[in-house]
Amino acid sequence: MLFDTHCHLTHPPLFHRLPEILAEARTCGVSYFLSAAADTDDWENLIALAAQPTHQNDIYIALGLHPWFIDRLPENVFNRLDQVLQQQPQALVGEIGLDFHRAADEISQRQQQFVFETQLDLAKTHRRAAVIHNVKSGVACLASLRRTNFTFGGFVHAFSGSTEEAHQWIKLGFKIGIGSLLLNPNTKKVKQLASRLPLDDMVLETDAPYMPPTPHAPNHPKNTRQIAEIIAELRGIDWQTVAEVSTRNALSVITNR
Ligand SMILES: [Zn+2]
Repeated sequence: MLFDTHCHLTHPPLFHRLPEILAEARTCGVSYFLSAAADTDDWENLIALAAQPTHQNDIYIALGLHPWFIDRLPENVFNRLDQVLQQQPQALVGEIGLDFHRAADEISQRQQQFVFETQLDLAKTHRRAAVIHNVKSGVACLASLRRTNFTFGGFVHAFSGSTEEAHQWIKLGFKIGIGSLLLNPNTKKVKQLASRLPLDDMVLETDAPYMPPTPHAPNHPKNTRQIAEIIAELRGIDWQTVAEVSTRNALSVITNR
């Protein structure tokens, strides 16, 4: 069984036909999902989704503030996050992190770091793993983790750094998210990573509905299967082994706290 460790099930166009999307994913062997929040509007939808009795053991959620959406923070937002984490003992903290591709200057980088580290502190308080967004900011992300003494691990989503950087994340208790970047035939670096990293350190993800493999069509959690098949081919093993190990890795992060 496959685990899509990074998707946004509450975002359009997935949310309005979710039962169908999940059924299609299951047909491809994808039975577990970790759906991450982008902003506060997401929190209620995700909480309601995970509370459905049918989704107690297949949909996991992460609550937090994505670095793209922190320009105008709602009032008392960190107190609210503190409260929702208290009320949702199963939730991870995410999608949080740094995106220096989207930070025009040092002031916005500092703002991102402040929001990221405040959320890492909350994750620590509640003993939760984190779901990390990191674009062109690997060194700064790792520095934030060390500064906050964050030891609860989690997932680094859509990892595109070097093997050496991956090992630094792994040392801090993180699993490396390998996903839709692999569906692009030109991604040599991610292919190298997918063939060299120990399988025990990898998890699979799509980022659906984002990062679509074909333009103008939304990404779909069912593509986790294709990602498993590509990794299997790169490593000369069968996709079922990739599925089994990566799902076990993902569940170990979610249940280990
Ligand atoms: Zn995402």
